[in-house]
Amino acid sequence: MNLNLIKEFIAIVGKELVFVSEADRQAYSYDAAVLTPQIPALVVMPENQEQLGKTVRLAYENGLPITVRGAGSNLSGAVIPSSADSVVILTNRLNRIIEINKEDLYAVVEPGVVTSVFAETVSSHGLFYPPDPGSQTVSTLGGNVALNAGGLRGLKYGVTKDYLMGMEFFDCNGELVKTGSHTVKCVTGYNLGGMMLGSEGTLGIFSQLILKLVPPPKASKAMMAVYDDIAKASETVAAIIAAHIIPCTLEILDKKCIKYVEIHTKAGLPVEAAAILLIEVDGSHVQAVEEDANEVMTLCTKCGATDIRPAKDADEKNKLWEARRNALPALARARPTTVLEDATVPRSKVPNMVAEINRIALKHNLEIGTFGHAGDGNLHPTILCDRRNKEEFRRVEDAIDEIFDAALNLKGTLSGEHGIGIAKAKWMEKETNRATINFSKKLRLALDPKYLFNAGKKIL
Ligand SMILES: Cc1cc2nc3c(=O)[nH]c(=O)nc-3n(C[C@H](O)[C@H](O)[C@H](O)COP(=O)(O)OP(=O)(O)OC[C@H]3O[C@@H](n4cnc5c(N)ncnc54)[C@H](O)[C@@H]3O)c2cc1C
Repeated sequence: MNLNLIKEFIAIVGKELVFVSEADRQAYSYDAAVLTPQIPALVVMPENQEQLGKTVRLAYENGLPITVRGAGSNLSGAVIPSSADSVVILTNRLNRIIEINKEDLYAVVEPGVVTSVFAETVSSHGLFYPPDPGSQTVSTLGGNVALNAGGLRGLKYGVTKDYLMGMEFFDCNGELVKTGSHTVKCVTGYNLGGMMLGSEGTLGIFSQLILKLVPPPKASKAMMAVYDDIAKASETVAAIIAAHIIPCTLEILDKKCIKYVEIHTKAGLPVEAAAILLIEVDGSHVQAVEEDANEVMTLCTKCGATDIRPAKDADEKNKLWEARRNALPALARARPTTVLEDATVPRSKVPNMVAEINRIALKHNLEIGTFGHAGDGNLHPTILCDRRNKEEFRRVEDAIDEIFDAALNLKGTLSGEHGIGIAKAKWMEKETNRATINFSKKLRLALDPKYLFNAGKKIL
């Protein structure tokens, strides 16, 4: 990149926060998706709102493609720089929790705050921020909003969109735009926050977020239900919802996941089982939670669970969730490459989708472990492979195509929570239609006429 331009970025944020060397830039060439990396021309790390706005303006004025990056933990290639002349803007230093308001139940934060740091800080104030993506110890709140991240508690408490009250963001000219409010209700102007949710860095750069907080549940009960047939586990999910019990968490792990998690964690999972459900109910009254837990256990038995193991104390409960959170790391140890997918179906169709995934695995002779938020219909079929083996990876790509076809045929969606990025952009029209793509393109070009914000992602 032109030396004078580099000097202008340095004038905004200081020498230490502009990364010029190839070794430094290389660290920002990839994310958690299995895709080809792209080294950017420059990496800039603003420390405050003013620096962020000036950085965006300078990059845009000079026609540089811009990729804003939180922790880079997304699984869709959403922060792989668009081209070799790109500038990556890092939000890690924009990590202040500006306000936690206990009276009106909201917080004001910068986008680079790490999700679990925020949740723990909120908890130390006696409040609760429920969205808990599996990556929460590294992911940032800005990344969560830009991908509308979900998590284990989505079934009862919703996902990031249910907690976004307002935001400030920079447009392509570096102008600060404000939307939403500190109030529960706000219909002032367009719902720009709704538009920015899930926008994947393609419409503007968040500089501040207003997030809703809720009171924490006072009681909870967790359990593991064991099955000799994954269809029975899926049927249990439908039965629990049909009984109008909404667990805070309702997760499924298939046989392969159980095997690898047990090797990895020694959590005492039943390796002989075909599937397990990990279930937690919570609420404000101990008695009511006990009643819900008992009813859930009855439903598990009715649907064919061979064993039900309630967690006796907080330690046992934590062990269960630790096992679930280890599903992906455990699978990732099995083979050199792990392709994690995110196909999502209406929850009554979970048994059909599980059957489809197993059929596709068999057809393409691939090892696919499936886990996920069964209560949301959000499954994560995870293909264990080796990208260096071209023949095997072709089968992986064919299998992915078929997994998405199967999800769409079941009235599902391409992505429940991981976003579109580069990885799924080519399927967008299949789920929607040409008019939707054209409308989205017009919106995008109206807000980013030079097409510099995360070009090549989401809408092609
Ligand atoms: C092990 C593992 C488990 C995961 N579990 C889950 C899960 O349970 N649920 C889930 O939803 N996801 C999950 N993910 C995916 C990912 O962690 C989440 O999508 C997370 O929200 C990404 O946050 P990030 O800070 O890493 O964002 P990045 O990956 O850095 O960026 C993601 C997107 O946000 C945009 N962005 C970042 N900051 C801003 C900003 N300030 N303004 C505008 N746009 C911005 C980027 O341009 C990009 O498009 C998981 C990933 C891994 C590796």
